[in-house]
Amino acid sequence: MGQQSSPKRPWLAAGLTLLVTGLGQVYLRRWLRALGWVGLAILVGTVVVPEPALADPSSATVREVVPLAGVALLSSLDAYVLARQHNYRLEAESVDRCPDCYRELERELSFCPWCATELSGSAETDRQRSPERSDDGRP
Ligand SMILES: [Zn+2]
Repeated sequence: MGQQSSPKRPWLAAGLTLLVTGLGQVYLRRWLRALGWVGLAILVGTVVVPEPALADPSSATVREVVPLAGVALLSSLDAYVLARQHNYRLEAESVDRCPDCYRELERELSFCPWCATELSGSAETDRQRSPERSDDGRP
């Protein structure tokens, strides 16, 4: 679907997971991770939280819902970190590299600062390589 390589919004992932445990991980296409968090939430819900509190959440005490809230917060944090890592990896892959020494390059340079290889017409070839990327960096 081509969604895999699009940047993700960390706060959206975290918010989705706060609403429904594992939803942020689904948004990030980390299916097993989503299942794991849902499983953990169910486990904590059945083992730690007393049944009357589950049947009628309005009657539950703070102490009874704290474990589930903890799982929700942790999974939300997990989704946030995953999204950040995903974006960081995307950014790392989109970095220009010297064809000679493969080190990172600044886009506007006409030569490699590491090995002094000339990068003839780098701006032109760059545009041809990724036509969907405009000059201001917006998709
Ligand atoms: Zn180089």
